[in-house]
Amino acid sequence: MNSETTTTVKNLLNTPKKIVIIGHKNPDGDAVGSCLGLYFFLKELGHAPTVLMPNDFPSFLKWMPGCETIQLYEKDQKAGNSLIDEAELIFTLDFNHLSRVGDLQQPLETSNAQFVMIDHHQQPDTYAVATYSDTSMSSTAEMVYHFIKALGGLEKLNPEIATNLYTGIMTDTGSFRFPSTTAETHRVIAQLMDAGANNAEIHQNIYDTNSPDRMKLLGIALNNLTILPEYRTAYITLTQQELDSNNFKKGDTEGFVNYALSIEGVIFAVIFIENKQENIVKMSLRSKGDFSVNEVARTHYNGGGHINAAGGRSSHSLNKTITEFISILPSYKNALNQ
Ligand code: 5GP
Ligand code: MN
Repeated sequence: MNSETTTTVKNLLNTPKKIVIIGHKNPDGDAVGSCLGLYFFLKELGHAPTVLMPNDFPSFLKWMPGCETIQLYEKDQKAGNSLIDEAELIFTLDFNHLSRVGDLQQPLETSNAQFVMIDHHQQPDTYAVATYSDTSMSSTAEMVYHFIKALGGLEKLNPEIATNLYTGIMTDTGSFRFPSTTAETHRVIAQLMDAGANNAEIHQNIYDTNSPDRMKLLGIALNNLTILPEYRTAYITLTQQELDSNNFKKGDTEGFVNYALSIEGVIFAVIFIENKQENIVKMSLRSKGDFSVNEVARTHYNGGGHINAAGGRSSHSLNKTITEFISILPSYKNALNQ
C-alpha cells in the first residue's frame, strides 16, 4: 500500500467508527477470509465492524472464525440497509466494481459513507477515498496482511485474523500453486502460522469435508467433459436438472473447472452451470500461461476477473451458450496455439 493511501486510511481510522465490510456476491474463501481477517483487526483497533455479504457462502467455509457474525443481505435487506445507513466507513474487499455485489449495489451507490477498496482484480473502479489495488497480489487476504503491516498493526495479529487470512490466501492460490503465489506470499503465510494459523486443520476443513452428493455431481461433470484439441480447450456443462438430482448446494461445483484445465495440452477451460432461478448460465473460466480469460469474460460474458481465472454469465439457454462459445473460439485460435 503506498504512503498516500496509508496516510488516508490512518486518518480515517483515527477515531472509533461504525464500519461495514463488504465482499462480492457468491463469496469465496478469499472474500470471506479477507473480510473476517479485517473484521478481527478492526475490532482490535477499537472499531465497531460488521461483515455484510450480498448472499450466502458455501458450507465448506462455515467453520471460519467469526463466520457466524456475517450478515446476509439476501436474508434481511432491512437490517442490511440500516447497517449501511449508519456506517461511517465502508470497506469493499475482493471486488473491483459495485456491480459485483448484486442487490447491494443500489444502497452502496447512494450511501454517504466513505469507501476504502482493497482488491486484486484488474480495472478497479474509482468510488473509494482510499484504493489499495494490486493485481499482482495472490489474494485480497494477502493484501489485508500488507494493509495491517502498513498501519503498524502486526502485533495485533491473533489466531482469528491469521486463520482467516491463511484460508483466503490458500483458496485463491489453489493451495499455493498458481503463478500468483510469490516468495513473499510464503513469507506472509509463515507469519500467519506464527500468529496461530493451523495449516493442517485449515486444509482439512476446506478440502476433506466433501458430501457424497458433491462427489456424485463431480462424476457427472467429468462425464460431461468435452475436449476441443485444435483450440486446446476443454469445457464442462451442468444442467439445472443434474444439479437438482444431486441435491446441489452452494459451493458444490467449486474447483470442478480445474479438472478440465488439468488435462495435458489444454490451456483454456470453462464450466457452464445452468441457473434456472436467475435464468442465466454462470461460467467459470480458467487458463494456463498468457491466455487471458479476463479478456474473454469481459468481451463476451459480462464478467471479468484475472488473466488465469475469471467468471461471467450468459442469458441464453445452455445449448445456445455452448454453440455461441464454440463459434467464438476461431477468433482466439492463434492466441490458444501460441
Ligand atoms: P469463479 O470462477 O471462481 O467464480 O471466479 C474467478 C474469478 O473471476 C474471481 O476472481 C471472481 O471474483 C471473478 N469473477 C467471477 N464471476 C465474475 C463476474 O460475473 N464478473 C466479474 N467481473 N468477475 C467475476
Ligand atoms: Mn480474490
